Amino acid sequence: MTTEISRKSFEEAKKYIPGGVNSPARAFLAVKDTPRFIESAKEQYIYDVDGNQYTDYVGSWGPMILGNNHPIILDAVKSKLEKGLSFGAATQIEVEMAKLIQEMVPSMEMLRMVTSGTEATMSALRVARGYTGREKIIKFEGCYHGHNDALLVKAGSGLIADGCTTPDSAGVTVGTTKDTLLACYNDFASVEKVFQENKGEIAALIVEPIPANMGVVLPQAGFLENLRKICTENGTVLIFDEVISGFRVSTGGAQKLFGIQPDLSTFGKIIGGGMPAACYGGKREIMECVAPVGKVYQAGTLAGNPIAMAAGIAQLTYLRDHPEVYEHINAMSERLFNGIEAILKSQKVNFTTNHIGSIGSLFFTDQKVIDFETAKTSDIDLFSQYFKHMISKNNYIAPAQFEALFISYAHTEKDIDKTLADIAEFFGA
Ligand code: PMP
Repeated sequence: MTTEISRKSFEEAKKYIPGGVNSPARAFLAVKDTPRFIESAKEQYIYDVDGNQYTDYVGSWGPMILGNNHPIILDAVKSKLEKGLSFGAATQIEVEMAKLIQEMVPSMEMLRMVTSGTEATMSALRVARGYTGREKIIKFEGCYHGHNDALLVKAGSGLIADGCTTPDSAGVTVGTTKDTLLACYNDFASVEKVFQENKGEIAALIVEPIPANMGVVLPQAGFLENLRKICTENGTVLIFDEVISGFRVSTGGAQKLFGIQPDLSTFGKIIGGGMPAACYGGKREIMECVAPVGKVYQAGTLAGNPIAMAAGIAQLTYLRDHPEVYEHINAMSERLFNGIEAILKSQKVNFTTNHIGSIGSLFFTDQKVIDFETAKTSDIDLFSQYFKHMISKNNYIAPAQFEALFISYAHTEKDIDKTLADIAEFFGA
């Protein structure tokens, strides 16, 4: 495989863009490799500038659940293009989107569109604080909610993978994080302790109901239910950050799958079908605090952009009307992760897998991965070698241990079996 043009592009990119990339996770730093510069993508494949074809297990980090460049999304975008790219004014398509999300996720009684997951979580927290009149928030170690200052504390994925010893960021002031309290995912006692020590002061608890930024981690029985209960008891706003799990693990996200109603939720990625779109919303009483109705200011010039709405509505409508999508992606994921288990069991390698629906992670550790501490026991050097082998065999997996693998509707049994054969080859199985 030649990657000469990618290499040259990267050298040039580094002169103009910090690290040569517009988002750190793309830089392949954690696997000590050179990023492939992408030219195009179609269905289950992605193509680099050197003409290599890869089976795509990243899917733009989640949005491309139907596969790349799906015709229904392309057609929806094309039909809107001629009418104008942005108006910065009210449109009917925004109402259509809000109604569709509300129909699929009933807890979203009212919602606001924004352009990124980062904005969605930042805004949800501001509203929770405005609504409760309190300042403190709880987040979990290893959960990532975007690069908001207040949330860049033990924030998972890009930050751990790049080898930062303290997964915080320079430039984030003590002032902005002093009201961020940390708890340990799947450890309800750690949550109770924080509540006890900060009685009547906690505005919100934000959680990825299915964390996917320390690799995929599954909630243990009762954990999310207990979060719901303690938030209700303490008048704290429970925020489910479903930027990854939303419309991925079911048509109604993790909250539908587990039957738990948060007070606010954030969605992104899939709701834009590949275009920049995200949203936050939930209980009417809380959302009515948002300007111009209420006193919590939040705005966005490109929020509810008509092209992004068209792409997102096409994708969400397809998901709503085609339950076979979930049957297929879940079955492909089962095939992949069961296959990995079968291959690695017979090998002398420490490993564990977590998967749910069409997302999952393979960790190189002898521990069950249930939280940030156990995720961090993974052998990242082995992951790096594994990644290099997989990409050399045309499998485009996330370039870091602490990310998810994403399956799309376009993946076939043949794709999965080829990937399994490549995994077996790496381990000499
Ligand atoms: N929340 C979660 C759970 C995420 O995984 C991410 C990004 N992967 C974000 C928020 C931030 O989204 P964005 O990158 O669109 O700002």
